[in-house]
Amino acid sequence: MARFPGVDYFLIDSQFSEQELLVRQTARQFVDDRAIPIVRDCFREARFPRELISEFGRLGFLGANLEGYGCAGMSNVEYGLVMQELERGDSGLRSFVSVQGALVMYPILCYGSQEQKDRWLSKMQSGQAIGCFGLTEPGFGSNPAGMKTRARQDGNHWILNGEKTWITNGTLADVAIVWARTDDGIRGFLVEKGTPGFTATDIHGKLSMRVSVTCSLVLSDVRVPASAMLPGANGLKAPLSCLSQARFGIGWGVIGAAMDCYETARQYTILRKQFDEKPIASHQLVQEKLAWMITEITKAQLLALQAGRVKDEGKIEPAHISMLKRNNVAIALECARLSRDLMGANGIIDEYPIMRHMCNLETVKTYEGTEHIHTLVIGERVTGIPAYK
Ligand SMILES: Cc1cc2nc3c(=O)[nH]c(=O)nc-3n(C[C@H](O)[C@H](O)[C@H](O)COP(=O)(O)OP(=O)(O)OC[C@H]3O[C@@H](n4cnc5c(N)ncnc54)[C@H](O)[C@@H]3O)c2cc1C
Repeated sequence: MARFPGVDYFLIDSQFSEQELLVRQTARQFVDDRAIPIVRDCFREARFPRELISEFGRLGFLGANLEGYGCAGMSNVEYGLVMQELERGDSGLRSFVSVQGALVMYPILCYGSQEQKDRWLSKMQSGQAIGCFGLTEPGFGSNPAGMKTRARQDGNHWILNGEKTWITNGTLADVAIVWARTDDGIRGFLVEKGTPGFTATDIHGKLSMRVSVTCSLVLSDVRVPASAMLPGANGLKAPLSCLSQARFGIGWGVIGAAMDCYETARQYTILRKQFDEKPIASHQLVQEKLAWMITEITKAQLLALQAGRVKDEGKIEPAHISMLKRNNVAIALECARLSRDLMGANGIIDEYPIMRHMCNLETVKTYEGTEHIHTLVIGERVTGIPAYK
């Protein structure tokens, strides 16, 4: 299996520390050795490779930029580089790691009780326990503020009723963080697998994110103790803060998918000959597409690096992350489409990774805030005028 050479047109590696390059190399080697050899079949079979979960844990990928409970305590740039390599393998692998770290471990660490942290975080770091994040509902995607799922207090218990959908890791999860409306605003609850009235079912027929488990959750008079509520999470800003963490990882991750598409197409166009035995890469129209891709990948790398440095300084804002996610997903998707084009008929076959990345990136464009919603976040930031309604 050929090793990934990396994509570095503008000496961006010189901006990384030795430690950051070492972390990237570890993730790169893991993806080359353990993910790439199986990922095509996983996509065909719509199978998430559970066998990799304990390795994610052992390598420190789960909750990688968190501190304590066995977490690796990586800087945000190191974490971003891990996300980049994982998504070079497949967006489904990065999604698993994003959900576990940014959407489940992060809120337990930030908003959980000591008992909740002690019960879950070490096990989640090692991959012995898996979590999912239930925010989206059938009627409320871009606008989670409208959620219908309700939690009603009953003595020292809560009773939850409602439905969540499009939930990554839902049927794999030992515990779901379910966001629900209460008399006191939106709160988060830890609902454990097997709790009576709580069911998770896989969504089938996906043509995107086939290497990821996506589910519906139903809560029908689910009774949980008062201690299942995340005490520090009050209001929609709590789940939105988790989404900011995950979106940051996406902004880095998709660079990996874009690099894989670009590099595959670059190598292919140099080898592929048409018209007088000339490589198709010798044509201006082909070079224009390669030039566009490498320029946009380079700009995406710089944006991600700046976001990582600013996040490490504690100065990042949700509107910065919106720009990162919106731009990098859009250019990654365009790189996939252009690469597909440059490879002609071979662009559609799963012997090459292009079409798989392209299909996955359609989801990445939609989840964690659609491109439109991030456009509106940026628009509000520069005008002061919210235009969501
Ligand atoms: C594979 C997959 C995994 C997912 N994993 C999770 C998960 O783990 N947990 C979770 O909670 N959710 C998850 N989601 C759900 C995801 O976050 C939602 O799909 C997303 O928020 C969009 O919601 P929607 O699909 O209901 O689309 P809608 O909100 O119905 O949007 C449809 C279209 O309308 C546009 N639109 C909506 N409002 C506006 C507006 N005001 N202005 C302009 N355009 C607008 C959108 O941009 C989009 O183009 C996942 C989704 C997928 C596909």
